[in-house]
Amino acid sequence: MSNIMFSPYKIGNEELKNRFIMTPAQLSYATDSGKITDSVIDFYRARAKGGVGLIIVGAVGVDPTRIATSGVIQLCRDDYMEGMKKLVNAVHEEGGKIFPQLWHPGAYAKPREYNGQQAVAPSEYFCMFTQANTQALTISEIEKLINYFADAALRAKQVGFDGLELVGSAGYIIAQFLSGATNKRTDKYGGDLMNRMTFLKEVIAAVRDNVGSDFPIIVRLAGKDMIPDGNSNDDCIQVAKELENIGVDGLNITGGWHETRVPQLTMDVPRGAFSYLAKRVKEKVNIPVITSNRLDATHAQSIIERRDADFVGICRGLIADPELVNKAETGRLDLIRPCIGCNQGCMDNIFKGKRLECLVNAEVQYEKVKNLDSAIAVKGKQILVIGSGVAGAEYALRATTAGATVTIWDKDSKSGGQMELVAAPPGRKGFKEIANFHYNACLEKGVHFVFNKKATPDEIINLTDNGTFDIVIVATGATPIIPRIPMEDGAHVVSSWDVLLNKVTTGKNIVVVGGGAVGVETSLLLAEEGTIDAETLKFLFTYKVETPERLHELLTYGSKKVTLVEMMKKIGADIGVSTRWIMLGGLRRLHVNSLTETKVIAIHKDGVLVQDSEGLEELIPADTVVMAIGSRSNNTLYNSLLGKVPKLLLLGDAVKPRKAMDAIRDGFISVK
Ligand code: SF4
Repeated sequence: MSNIMFSPYKIGNEELKNRFIMTPAQLSYATDSGKITDSVIDFYRARAKGGVGLIIVGAVGVDPTRIATSGVIQLCRDDYMEGMKKLVNAVHEEGGKIFPQLWHPGAYAKPREYNGQQAVAPSEYFCMFTQANTQALTISEIEKLINYFADAALRAKQVGFDGLELVGSAGYIIAQFLSGATNKRTDKYGGDLMNRMTFLKEVIAAVRDNVGSDFPIIVRLAGKDMIPDGNSNDDCIQVAKELENIGVDGLNITGGWHETRVPQLTMDVPRGAFSYLAKRVKEKVNIPVITSNRLDATHAQSIIERRDADFVGICRGLIADPELVNKAETGRLDLIRPCIGCNQGCMDNIFKGKRLECLVNAEVQYEKVKNLDSAIAVKGKQILVIGSGVAGAEYALRATTAGATVTIWDKDSKSGGQMELVAAPPGRKGFKEIANFHYNACLEKGVHFVFNKKATPDEIINLTDNGTFDIVIVATGATPIIPRIPMEDGAHVVSSWDVLLNKVTTGKNIVVVGGGAVGVETSLLLAEEGTIDAETLKFLFTYKVETPERLHELLTYGSKKVTLVEMMKKIGADIGVSTRWIMLGGLRRLHVNSLTETKVIAIHKDGVLVQDSEGLEELIPADTVVMAIGSRSNNTLYNSLLGKVPKLLLLGDAVKPRKAMDAIRDGFISVK
């Protein structure tokens, strides 16, 4: 990686050793009242040790009258300082710098997380994010709030933080004051953009009074609110220039608000898609600018080399791999465990009130608990793993780290198992990155891969009998189920897996049976066939060949008519909350006909006979029927080895078909 990424750069008086900044993550590892625990410290210590220049920890609550019950960390009272000091010391001990992100949720405080308290905001309105009404702040309440920010800032300085960030993005209270969409006040805090900045400017003045001129203050802003009547990128630039004028030391420019209908953080958001927002800000100010949203080390480097920003903010990439920065410094980008933007372990967990985990990194939250060096059961052992899917590969990687010698056999010609089919639907290619990482990291650790290798019980028993292998791990995955539905001879019925792997042809009229994640993804893939691709879109747009409306049609009308049939009330019930709305939006956009509470009665050559919840039957014309109703474990090999090899373990979907996160966790925890 180029030197510029590792060249020091200053925010105010504080010099950071490189251009990587870890942006805030809600961990939910603090106590319910928001006190720092050892898990929080271990999590951040690992990231500081991994080389990141600055960690911005947060969100950090400032309001002692509104403390979330969901473990949001706090600096709203003095009794929170002791834990914070330990956190700051841990990061400093590892050579890192640390800022708190001072935060007030305003309208985004869900009453159920705040003992039923109604949320406050600049104005009274119905908040889409919480689905609740807000209460408008009085002038004296605003003044109190400003003092809360200032008091928390003083505590931050006293416990040893190196600077601080004020969050004015994503739709929290400062953003609510800045935006005309939510600020309808007619006093000095409302009106035009300059007036709407009054609250933020008064917060900054009060904070500056408490921390002094040599303590860096940065402000995080939405590069564009991306909500109706919200601030534009030009508005953000105006705010940025004013902040520079009043002595703010840096700007952290992100994408839109939480309640925007534009995906911000999912796998289908192109890497660095919103960095143009920060680039335009950087062109207009002379203080450091941080850019963030869906960045990995490769895109980070391009942005900094182009001088489109001075720092890159990466959060989930550092959840997935705490060593991201150190690995980038050695030029081994291929060994970085990639954040794939799935949100399954991080945001979906947090939305469910659970602790933060990571799909690709099962070690998250167990930074100190699980020590592979003490995994004595595998140390020095010869291990045979059958299957190079995520469970088998994760086991192999962790076991070699713990001192084992591992060979992987795979029946296919390449590694990754089911990741290829999981990565096939539109916007899901991130899953392929996990398979690539596992392969590269395993090779680096000396794992020996044997492809196109059929595993037979006799051969494995021989090899364990003669001492070639001490332990056998069976990670043979699963196979799709074809249900027992009456089918007419000649009906063209295929599995969703074969469609995703492009092993079968499909006709023009398709019925997909099963509306879980796989059925949704298969429907999206089929419905997108025949739409224009990104390159064609760019060409047609550049030369103004078609109107934007016509281009939208070309993007959303494919060549196939797809109907998705689900027995239950909800389509995609097994998809995480952060992603489901986007995938359901995709079905609508691509004109997939989605039928719920509908049962398949029979499959004919010319269509699928279905019955709705009222018992009405209908024949849906179809020349192809795709079955997406689940899979069953492949554990035949395991059963035939039971009792015949010294140590045998079953992993991943071969135990029970589940999600990739469960399979990776299986691989991780099974190394003992
Ligand atoms: Fe990234 Fe998914 Fe891990 Fe979240 S759970 S950090 S999105 S890989």
